[in-house]
Amino acid sequence: MSDIKNSGFFNQFVKAARSTTSTVSKKTGEFVEATKIKVAIADCENEIDALYIDIGKLVYQAFSDNTEPSETINEKCAQISEKLLQKDELKAKLATVKDTVFCSSCGASNQAGSQFCSSCGSKLQ
Ligand SMILES: [Zn+2]
Repeated sequence: MSDIKNSGFFNQFVKAARSTTSTVSKKTGEFVEATKIKVAIADCENEIDALYIDIGKLVYQAFSDNTEPSETINEKCAQISEKLLQKDELKAKLATVKDTVFCSSCGASNQAGSQFCSSCGSKLQ
């Protein structure tokens, strides 16, 4: 009798411990993903800054040599436009990660604040 009671308690304890663990790892996963995207955005910004500096140097070089600015400037401007687009995409992705809750049962992504998973119906934490 007491064995059954004890195992019931133990099972409940294990269940509670498991659900806590999955909640923590889910949050950690989102945090890691968001951090990765933030690092990528910072990298983009650094590369854009470096390109601005390169362009500035080329413009000044042309000024001091009294020549036409080199074609390289156009290439670098195009690279900046590309990087800015990339940065916007990363920012949009970051917003998605932040507003998303992943189901701990089936892994489907749900809108933040949802009570139940739209895919499997499990209660979302
Ligand atoms: Zn689900």
